[in-house]
Amino acid sequence: MIKNKKICSRCIYDEHIPNISFSDDGICNYCDQIDFLKKEFGTGKKKGHKLLKNLINKIKKEGQSKKYDCVIGVSGGTDSSYLLMKAKEWGLKPLAVHYDNTWNTATASMNIAKVTKYLDIDLFTYVIDNKEVNDMKLSFLRSGVPEFDADTDIAFVQILRQVAANKKIKYILEGHSFITEGISPVGSNYFDGGYVADIHKKFGKLKMKSYPNMTFFQFMKWILLYRQKFIRPLWYIDYSKEEAQKILIEKTGWQYYDGHHLENRASWFTHTLWLPRYGTDFRYLSLAAKVRNNKIKRLTALKEMKKPIIESTMLINYVKKRLDLNHNEYKSIMNGTKRTWRGFKTYKKRFEILKPIFYILMKLNLVPVTFYQKYCNKID
Ligand SMILES: [Zn+2]
Repeated sequence: MIKNKKICSRCIYDEHIPNISFSDDGICNYCDQIDFLKKEFGTGKKKGHKLLKNLINKIKKEGQSKKYDCVIGVSGGTDSSYLLMKAKEWGLKPLAVHYDNTWNTATASMNIAKVTKYLDIDLFTYVIDNKEVNDMKLSFLRSGVPEFDADTDIAFVQILRQVAANKKIKYILEGHSFITEGISPVGSNYFDGGYVADIHKKFGKLKMKSYPNMTFFQFMKWILLYRQKFIRPLWYIDYSKEEAQKILIEKTGWQYYDGHHLENRASWFTHTLWLPRYGTDFRYLSLAAKVRNNKIKRLTALKEMKKPIIESTMLINYVKKRLDLNHNEYKSIMNGTKRTWRGFKTYKKRFEILKPIFYILMKLNLVPVTFYQKYCNKID
């Protein structure tokens, strides 16, 4: 007899999701975590409204005499574009900041330009040398770890923090929504600045001159000395991706791209070609979130998950060309040894040792709850 795998009775996460556990009524710990965050942040409720209003007032007050009172990271995707629009509505004076890893799709670049122009918001873009990115990307492929695009995530935050520091702005707003995106399962992947540096040291060739890595000491400097605060306004409000897209299209001429985080070719490659090597299917995250929010039926999502992930030949050719890989080299990389973050230098141990200090920093809103959970707790 074939044993059926256990699936959460509410979302679609099953036994193979890292560190999953189920309650007596069959609901998974990730659903519980979302419920906890909803309660804590008062998402879409009076409490959330009030908490966000207080935050906005604080940002306004502290930035009264300045040209900008906050920095907002933009990618051209739905969430960050919508956040820019809301920020303006709330009367904030944001500076939009984009880290261009040179793998953007034309749609993403156009979206950023259209939205900032429509809202009359200044845009600061940091563009990295494309030879350096290619070398970084190749080193991640050769290392065989799943976090192909970790360098972008780290550099994006580093640029946001650098710009904020230069402009003497304390608040950094992020367009993340746990309602539409969920929270990544702990243990499925890990990265920090130390990890990026070690991967590149072992597998890269070029010297990094324009790549803005974030070291442990820089991270601590941004938090302790500059007291920068990351705020995720979408955590407080009743946020619907579909609604947001409709408004953005109508008002700004923003364009829809198909799929989760596919506005950039590096994240597109990660989700549709690289992560499946490790048995990770990113559709789980957004589909589970949609089921939890009653956007689609649980059975429809389960059926959707049975469909194969679409591999784009156009994307594969782009990656080969950019990284100067012939067919055999590409194939041998795709079939190469798989490794995990545990085989490389990271700051993880340091974060774990400093857990009590980060607990206080979390309570002071200097590091996000999700940072504390993921970086300071031991991962089984
Ligand atoms: Zn669940």
